[in-house]
Amino acid sequence: MTWNLANKLALFGDSSMIVEARIACRRIMKDSISTERSKKAQEIASNPSSYKVCEGCDSIVGSGAITCPNCHGYRFDAEPSRVVDQAIFLGARKQTSVTVEDLS
Ligand SMILES: [Zn+2]
Repeated sequence: MTWNLANKLALFGDSSMIVEARIACRRIMKDSISTERSKKAQEIASNPSSYKVCEGCDSIVGSGAITCPNCHGYRFDAEPSRVVDQAIFLGARKQTSVTVEDLS
């Protein structure tokens, strides 16, 4: 939608407006990514017993994981309050390494 607007503006030759539209578009994309992340964080926080926190790299992994898929560490903190804290922390952070792929 925003890209169509940018293209329309291009027809009028106002390049500064195109740049603004592109920045707005990028901002929307960034927002949707962080929404995804906070959704995941909420999911983890609402079910902390299914997850644990890696002592090596602070990733959140599935409670069934034997080693951390990120750093191959084998020490975990399964304390639910720690998992919730970490989920909120990772959810709020810009870049994250939440790994919840190993749920088996
Ligand atoms: Zn790790």
